Amino acid sequence: MTDGPMRTCIACRTRRSATELVRLRRRPDGVVVPDVARARSGRSAWLCPSRACISRAVQRRALVHALGGPRRLAVRTPEPGALQASITDAVASRLMVLSRTISRDSAGAGPPHAELTALTATQAVLLHAGEVA
Ligand SMILES: [Zn+2]
Repeated sequence: MTDGPMRTCIACRTRRSATELVRLRRRPDGVVVPDVARARSGRSAWLCPSRACISRAVQRRALVHALGGPRRLAVRTPEPGALQASITDAVASRLMVLSRTISRDSAGAGPPHAELTALTATQAVLLHAGEVA
């Protein structure tokens, strides 16, 4: 069904396709930010886009361990609600970029289409997570 790389959620330890997870990275100032476009190389952490996993990753310091690495770099984790909001915003703006790319180049089923489909599913999970609050 889903091909491609598998990743493990740092909160619930479930292995899933990378397209079902959100990638997070540590900015040079230590702040944890989503990397939805996956454009940056370097240390990253993967998380289910669910409220439960976002909260757990923050509260159990899983993000600090995953992103601080062996050198124990400073990691500044937002509150769960703020992190969820920044992930939701990042997914929405990435979807906007992708849909523009696709309408310019309407060649059919290329990689942008696959990413768009995956991100639309991620967004649905995030919005659902928001309602549960
Ligand atoms: Zn999870």
